[in-house]
Amino acid sequence: MSLKVLVIGAGMGGLSAALALQQQGHRVTVMERVEEMRPVGAAISLWSNGVKVMHQLGLGTAIERLSGDMQRMRYLSHDGHLLSDFSLAPLYEDVKQRACPIARAALQQTLFDAVGAEHIELGQHCVDYTSDARGVTVTFADGRKVETDLLVVADGTHSRLRNKIVGRAVERQYVGYVNWNVRVPAKDALAPLDSWDQYVGEGKRVSLMPMGTGGNSEGQEEFYCFFDVPLPADTPNDPARYKEELREHFTGWARPVQALIEHVDPARMARVEIHDIEPLETLTDTRVALLGDAAHGMAPDLGQGGCQAMEDAWVLAQVVQKALEDVPTPNEALRQALDNYNTARVKRVGEIVARARQRAEMIHGHTSALTQAWYAELGQEDGQGVREGIKKTILGGPLG
Ligand code: FAD
Repeated sequence: MSLKVLVIGAGMGGLSAALALQQQGHRVTVMERVEEMRPVGAAISLWSNGVKVMHQLGLGTAIERLSGDMQRMRYLSHDGHLLSDFSLAPLYEDVKQRACPIARAALQQTLFDAVGAEHIELGQHCVDYTSDARGVTVTFADGRKVETDLLVVADGTHSRLRNKIVGRAVERQYVGYVNWNVRVPAKDALAPLDSWDQYVGEGKRVSLMPMGTGGNSEGQEEFYCFFDVPLPADTPNDPARYKEELREHFTGWARPVQALIEHVDPARMARVEIHDIEPLETLTDTRVALLGDAAHGMAPDLGQGGCQAMEDAWVLAQVVQKALEDVPTPNEALRQALDNYNTARVKRVGEIVARARQRAEMIHGHTSALTQAWYAELGQEDGQGVREGIKKTILGGPLG
């Protein structure tokens, strides 16, 4: 049976869901608020669980081609002393898929093209919905109303519809640090091209990750770089001061960090105060599924927000398909599908949100003794502990 599906939000979550549901034969339209898609942020590391979903959706090969080949991880102290250097190959062998750090623009475009521009309506600002067992009516800011069988809400961390789905007010919480992120050409030997380098100290972090070419016209390899600094909430965000601020925050840090700061183009930089939301007890309303950051905005310290959005998308399409095959009436089938979506996702994403918060606090000096202990551990790390942690997250996903 083919359902009419409306997806709110054309981020990586909404587009993955649209594609997964299209591939099950449903008639999907994505409604996106902005008039022109321009992803905020430089890149993301798509870990193996996210890449596995992309392979299922037929995009894995394209994503691998556009992404960086990250084979090692190195931790360095703020003054450049090597703490640990280990291979990620045993992890990739165990989980049977490498990670793919990739430009956000390239990932977005790949998903957008796969869904098809004719199935995506831009400039559509969803403001409300009503639903019952027979269907959903979705309302837009210009007064337009659209009827649908199933509504997928993927409207991001500031979700407008989340409170209605959950049945209470959900507040975003500041995690305690600011992240500046940017992509830079990799030609200046700032770090090895196959290694994810992280400088840590003073509760701060500087990261350089190989992100491939993203399909850029020059075929230029790039690094995805970010700078994390613990700061109070609501500090001024003035792009004209980014470089100056970073110079101040990273005075005395290693030479490659200084070189990187001089190298970045502030015009290409994004600055984000990192927030998350508490794990939610439900991700569904009658004929409505909540997905992606709207469902589980999390600290980026496990690199799992986008990967979990992709897992949501894959699981949702599977449970809908299974219920439509097993249950004769569409009303009952959708009820069962959404129950199964909750069962599959609430616990999984809740645990990852909580772990991401814990890791964010450990990295960023929330409790100084814990952060100091982590720095000491990094000096002893042979890679086994880090790989096991990442492996557990990946293998806990729907595709193993
Ligand atoms: P979004 O990308 O926010 O998309 C939501 C879309 O909905 C937007 O296009 C918006 O315009 C639209 N919208 C909003 N409201 C409405 C409305 N009312 N009507 C219609 N449309 C609407 N994840 C990883 O997997 N790996 C990483 O390495 C990683 N690093 C990160 C680093 C940083 C600094 C941050 C902040 C996040 C990181 N993440 C990472 C998380 C990842 O970016 C998010 O999880 C992902 O972008 C969420 O996608 P989404 O589609 O749910 O939401």
